Amino acid sequence: MSVITVNNLSVMYEKECVFSDISFSVEKGDYIALAGPNGSGKSTLIKTILSLVKPIHGSIFLFDKPLGDFKDWNKIGYVPQKLNLSQYFPATVKEVVAMGLVSKQSYFSKIKKVDLERIDYLLNLMEILQLKDKNINELSGGQLQRAIIARALVSNPELLILDEPTTALDPNTRERFFITLKDLNMSDNVTIILITHDTGGAGQYAKKLMYFDSKIVFYGTFDDFCSSESMSSYFGYNSQHIICHKH
Ligand code: ADP
Ligand code: MG
Repeated sequence: MSVITVNNLSVMYEKECVFSDISFSVEKGDYIALAGPNGSGKSTLIKTILSLVKPIHGSIFLFDKPLGDFKDWNKIGYVPQKLNLSQYFPATVKEVVAMGLVSKQSYFSKIKKVDLERIDYLLNLMEILQLKDKNINELSGGQLQRAIIARALVSNPELLILDEPTTALDPNTRERFFITLKDLNMSDNVTIILITHDTGGAGQYAKKLMYFDSKIVFYGTFDDFCSSESMSSYFGYNSQHIICHKH
């Protein structure tokens, strides 16, 4: 089964073309590091797949369903790059995390005990359990980022898309978070797309690399990246091997 299929996708903002004619697919159990320069269209690509930006051309399938017919949004956990506080305000940390469940239940229905337990589990995992009744406007950037990650995980998603999720986390928390992600991928077969600038570190945890710069420069395993002659000439031999992290 394909989790994401993208065919001949083109996106424009006003008159500016962000990318055109992009095609690729993501299989169940993939863990993809999506890297590329600032402004190269990574966030736009993800937002288009999630139906938040409308393409001018092309088609997208989620879990083998055309995007227009796709309804199972609770199968997908998303951590956006830009966290918009006013979108949640006023709410406590616990309530923000519970919002990740709204597609599973009516918004105003009481949160079930099993869901409350999962919320506590995730807040504990992200080391912010003690903040659960705090208002989110009282949180630091890093604490808010952890709450948004917990929110993305709360519905036990089959696909996790994380757009630079660790920019506000300290190195130790970041390391533990990457171990958690790897564990979700290995044990629960959760498909992961992680947008990251950490090209040198991504090869330690992700299975595949997509290097995006208004087009797909490379998409495949780190081993294939490492041995690719065209990537040697694109990046230079040294950078190629810093990225693949194998040698
Ligand atoms: P990345 O995530 O790789 O840094 P983005 O997808 O955020 O890149 O941006 C790609 C290009 O589209 C950039 O030139 C950016 O300025 C532009 N862009 C992004 N969002 C918008 C928007 N909402 N309206 C107009 N232009 C945008
Ligand atoms: Mg971005």
